[in-house]
Amino acid sequence: ASAWSQIPQGPPDAILGITEAFKKDKHPQKINLGVGAYRDDKGKPYVLPSVYQAEQQVIHQNLDKEYAGITGVPEFTKAAALLAYGPDSTPLKEGSIAITQSISGTGALRIGGAFLQRFYPGAKTIYIPTPSWANHKAVFSDSLLEVKQYRYYNKDTIGLDFDGMVADIKNMPKGSIILLHACAHNPTGVDPTEDQWRAISDAVKEGDHFPFFDMAYQGFASGDTDKDAFALRHFVKEGHFPCLAQSFAKNMGLYGERVGAFSIVTASPEEKARVDSQIKIIVRPLYSNPPVHGARVASTILNDPALNKQWLGEVEGMATRIIKMRALLKENLEKLGSKQKWNHITDQIGMFAYTGLTAEQMSKLAEEHSVYATKDGRISVAGITSDNVGRLAESIYKITG
Ligand code: PMP
Repeated sequence: ASAWSQIPQGPPDAILGITEAFKKDKHPQKINLGVGAYRDDKGKPYVLPSVYQAEQQVIHQNLDKEYAGITGVPEFTKAAALLAYGPDSTPLKEGSIAITQSISGTGALRIGGAFLQRFYPGAKTIYIPTPSWANHKAVFSDSLLEVKQYRYYNKDTIGLDFDGMVADIKNMPKGSIILLHACAHNPTGVDPTEDQWRAISDAVKEGDHFPFFDMAYQGFASGDTDKDAFALRHFVKEGHFPCLAQSFAKNMGLYGERVGAFSIVTASPEEKARVDSQIKIIVRPLYSNPPVHGARVASTILNDPALNKQWLGEVEGMATRIIKMRALLKENLEKLGSKQKWNHITDQIGMFAYTGLTAEQMSKLAEEHSVYATKDGRISVAGITSDNVGRLAESIYKITG
């Protein structure tokens, strides 16, 4: 017998299960709104033209395939930090932000988890919103942090439970670690307003808490990369020393290339150097050094002024299509005479809409209408198209009335 004769069968991944069921379905107009990947208006995966062009440039440079350093491609990380923190960032100008390339956003969160587990001087407990991206709990638990939750979503308003969130922040033990979605909260699509972010920053400061930003959708929410970085930049301006996980999966469509970065704002260049040295010690035994191709592509886009401008337009294009699909879905539901309010569909932002549909209704949607999405009522708006929005609205109308 092998060593694994007693190994228990693990549960399948929730999203992959949906894809399986979708593939089996024979309905000619079946709709898959499960996975969080952008689709064009024909429902096809989209490679950004700026990515194609950057890729051509990279190929024509005939670069070698030598290892990058432990912290990755320096031109990439430098530009990634500038994109996130902005040209006016004091710690960026001072050279006190430590940054490393990472295996996309997930890898950045995992490095952050490992770093906090090893060095955070306070309690090694991280508070994540209720609900949060399902992988947050897994990533931080596997990093041996204790994971607790704070209130975030109000199911009665299908919006933000702002009072509950602030009250929970105020009740956390002093010096707690708090995970914040920088923009386009996944799965709810519910983001705080700028004023609410200001109050959240004050509450975090009052508690002397440590903010950990997860920014997987910069530019994807509003279409403007500066606007979407508001929360992070505001916290830095207010004197917080946050850490940050960045992903280029969505805003550059580089999903499978695994391009991301993990950074920490420190108090001085000297402190940054010490933090940097420890990040390297964490990364080395995890995967030695990150892959270079995607980072070179992202770096080309971020550093070439013409390509950068083009890319910003393409990000805006994706965000605008999503915003338009939200409006169309709501409009179609209203035209059908739905008695329910659907304002939340257009109030929410980013790749996902939290419909407020129950698990039972979501099952019906799949079984009776061949519309597939997660049981929590989350739909990927990026999977809605001009062609399927009508049928989607009818399906939702039929199960909700
Ligand atoms: N954080 C959040 C909130 C996400 O939604 C995602 C993508 N689904 C990620 C992080 C990381 O994704 P990736 O590892 O593909 O960059």
